Amino acid sequence: MDTPTPSNFLRAIIEEDLRNGKNEGRVCTRFPPEPNGFLHIGHAKSICINFGLARDYGGRCHLRFDDTNPGKEDPVYVTSIKEDVRWLGFDWGEHLYHASDYFEQLYQFAVDLIRQGKAYVCSLSAEEVRRYRGSLTEPGTNSPCRDRSVEENLDLFSRMRAGEFPEGAHILRAKIDMASPNMNMRDPALYRILHQEHQNTGKVWCIYPMYDFAHGLSDALERITHSICTLEFADHKPLYDWILDQLNVPARPRQYEFNRLNINYTVTSKRKLKLLVDENIVASWNDPRMPTISGLRRRGFPPAALRDFCERVGVSRSDSCVDMSLLENCVRENLDATAPRAMAVLRPLRLIIQNYPEGGEEFFDLPNHPKDPDMGSRKVGFSREIFIEADDFTETPPPKYFRLSPGREVRLRGAYLVTCTDVIKGPDGKIEAVLCTYDRATRGGDAPDGRKVKGTLHWVSAAHAVPAEVRLYERLFNAEFPGRDGDFLSQINPESLETLTGCQVEASLAQAAPEDRFQFERLGYFCADRFDHAAHRLVFNRTVTLRDSWSRAVQEKSA
Ligand code: ATP
Ligand code: MG
Repeated sequence: MDTPTPSNFLRAIIEEDLRNGKNEGRVCTRFPPEPNGFLHIGHAKSICINFGLARDYGGRCHLRFDDTNPGKEDPVYVTSIKEDVRWLGFDWGEHLYHASDYFEQLYQFAVDLIRQGKAYVCSLSAEEVRRYRGSLTEPGTNSPCRDRSVEENLDLFSRMRAGEFPEGAHILRAKIDMASPNMNMRDPALYRILHQEHQNTGKVWCIYPMYDFAHGLSDALERITHSICTLEFADHKPLYDWILDQLNVPARPRQYEFNRLNINYTVTSKRKLKLLVDENIVASWNDPRMPTISGLRRRGFPPAALRDFCERVGVSRSDSCVDMSLLENCVRENLDATAPRAMAVLRPLRLIIQNYPEGGEEFFDLPNHPKDPDMGSRKVGFSREIFIEADDFTETPPPKYFRLSPGREVRLRGAYLVTCTDVIKGPDGKIEAVLCTYDRATRGGDAPDGRKVKGTLHWVSAAHAVPAEVRLYERLFNAEFPGRDGDFLSQINPESLETLTGCQVEASLAQAAPEDRFQFERLGYFCADRFDHAAHRLVFNRTVTLRDSWSRAVQEKSA
């Protein structure tokens, strides 16, 4: 029997390892965020890969906080990261770890390296260390501290731990090769002094391991089999291997690199995202314009759409940039199938049906989904005064305008055909209301005589509608590759948020819970805001428009 070809190189490696009985047939991966910011869409890819491989090969995936930089880390980030991973649909079970859980063991590993003569305390200043390192074209120079005795190194290292020295006085370095063509192998730092409290270990430590030292050893202690990371760590792999090969570790993980996810019209770097928050360009890390997982969540992106997207962008070893519309299309596809329909009028214009009885009302039973009867139906009230979208009426229709204008007949979706008879204008000439008549025989929206109307409008009944605030979001950046030509902070789209306060929505939407998603007919997909929406104050965020009109709109604007 043929086995299917693995869909990417990581799967091929794992299947090969399983065939060869490597790692006792275990598959154990980990997702290792540093809690120095909120997770973004790039991390979603890493989460889907690591948890997805564990799921598909009967293994497990650990969530490990890579918390070796106390100054930049915060429990707020820890909380958000856990919430985001769960929301994406993954579960680490009991396997929640922190690099800081291993600080004592890591210290003992460092002592072991010193005893073997493979690590030494270096007392050069940071500037000197840089100078001695050489460059890509020139070998480095040995530190004068390189030949310290094991005893002296052990003594200095224990005094570093005891807090006897100020920051920068000493570092612990691996003794590898100052002439290596790989700069990461030129006696890299393993420990530095930081007189900083740690969000997890408090004041216990004043020396902290460097990422490269902590990461591989944490992998080994957790008996990770496949340590999957992004390509920028490829140059660190020889160091990863060197450290594990010198020490007596309980397992021997292997590192594999894949291409990081980049998307146009946004940034996927925690440092840049933090700047957007700190400079008040967005309201918060979970502002719906942010490419953070919590921002996309608040915007209304379903977790299944993000997983689908991560699957579609695939895994390879060459860096690339993915089109934002691919992500938006995954969201549209998901919401087209899953989001109930509703009617909302964002910029209301009053339509008075003159031949409809004063004070009369009736209810239409409208399907919640055109293709999915299982989603049921709802009652939508109708009366003499209706709100339609202001731009669904014009006194002077341009060619191919099929919406309402004087003398024209249009369909009010699911209700009646109406014909415009007149307009009422205010003293300033502004249209205050549109007058029309309806044809009683067209109840449900179709004419018994078979006459066709070209335009169908969405509407809400003035007597039944409820007010709402609607936030229209656009892409956060105008530049396709923010930061490539100029400062990314100067390439913000000034129209990335438009808040509409006078909207009118159908009454059923008053029952929406935060995070409920809808298609507002003819307008797009919307989501009740996770934080601001409440029964007494309806707030909806536009998730995506119905079609990918964005690239065209931008071309028109710049033309
Ligand atoms: P950033 O560059 O945004 O600060 P980071 O790599 O420093 O990200 P970490 O918290 O260290 O953030 O990342 C956790 C894991 O997520 C790492 O294994 C990293 O390789 C992976 N990761 C980070 N950014 C991306 C991305 N854009 N695409 C895929 N994986 C990513
Ligand atoms: Mg990192």
